[in-house]
Amino acid sequence: MESLTAAIEELPLTDHHVHTVLPGPLTRPEFEAFITESDAPAPAGTTSFDSQLGFAIRRWCSPVLGLEPAAATADAYVLHRNRRPQEAAAAMLRAAGCGRLLVDTGFIAPGSLGLDELGSLSGAAVSEVVRLETVAAELAGTGCPAAEFARRYRELLGVRSAEAVGLKSIMAYRYGLDFDPRPPSPREVTEAAGRWLREIETSGVIRLSDPVLLREVLWAGVERGLPIQFHTGFGDPELDLRRSDPLLLRGFLDATATAGVPVMLLHCYPFHRHAAFLAQAYPHVYLDLGMVVTYTGARVAAVLAETLELAPFAKVLYSSDAYGLPELVYLGARLWRKAVAEVFGDWIARGEWQEQDAVRVAGLMSAGNAARVYQFPGASI
Ligand SMILES: [Zn+2]
Repeated sequence: MESLTAAIEELPLTDHHVHTVLPGPLTRPEFEAFITESDAPAPAGTTSFDSQLGFAIRRWCSPVLGLEPAAATADAYVLHRNRRPQEAAAAMLRAAGCGRLLVDTGFIAPGSLGLDELGSLSGAAVSEVVRLETVAAELAGTGCPAAEFARRYRELLGVRSAEAVGLKSIMAYRYGLDFDPRPPSPREVTEAAGRWLREIETSGVIRLSDPVLLREVLWAGVERGLPIQFHTGFGDPELDLRRSDPLLLRGFLDATATAGVPVMLLHCYPFHRHAAFLAQAYPHVYLDLGMVVTYTGARVAAVLAETLELAPFAKVLYSSDAYGLPELVYLGARLWRKAVAEVFGDWIARGEWQEQDAVRVAGLMSAGNAARVYQFPGASI
């Protein structure tokens, strides 16, 4: 299957959900905090490196930096990448081979690269994905009167997303995907905005978690008309995983079936089979495996194969969901290419698939589907 592997290696990827990264050195505990979704350090006497993700970093990122994987203990790896952290970051970003990065700017680690710097270091075209809840927080910070919330939010969203290619909802984090799928009434919005703005005045904390306002900003996003990405499935413990199953979006998907807005289900794991069903059932639904590509390490091919049991091939996209570590941008791409080659190679070897079909589908999932859905210039597939 050498020709298949070679063809997949050469595909320029579109990473359609990624965050910007830190170019500087990191202490071992700082580095470890970026390779777990837990908000607590690993228990005493243990390390986050003892995981699929930790092993995959040592195995696949070391050679990019000229370090033998066999010699790359966790300490040796962190020490080595910290010797010339900028160069290490550039090497990782380049080696990922991404033609495009769609960057979620709603969550940025302090000290991260700006989008222009990320573009020049990676050699990729960079576009922005705007978080709906972040725009609401910005509006609340300006002291908007409650009765004007709905109008001013749409105005500000228009400005913030003028150059964006997509929007993102973190409803799963702030409430759960079992939200009332209908748009709230104007009166409900004004009342909820009043409550939220008063709460901000007393607490000094701006964090949108009111279900009425979360629905309001989501529907304003639908009106805006760009593809909407949803966090679903696996994430940090702020999330109730039981309420992040994409099947819970059923009412919203019915309500938006004719809105002309693609819905992108991110990560999905362990509900990737549920998401695959939704992608088959609804013409406007797409999915990716996001950070699961890096987090499942040596097992990602199994998760990809399960996803492709039902998901139409035109509905699956690639993303790394890298955050903080440049290593994760590379590792996502490395493991994705490997998993696609392994899964498709197996189906070809068993006489189920033709190689030319496998190469075409790999191209769709790696960049073609993203080009079509986000309407990049020149998209012809
Ligand atoms: Zn993300």
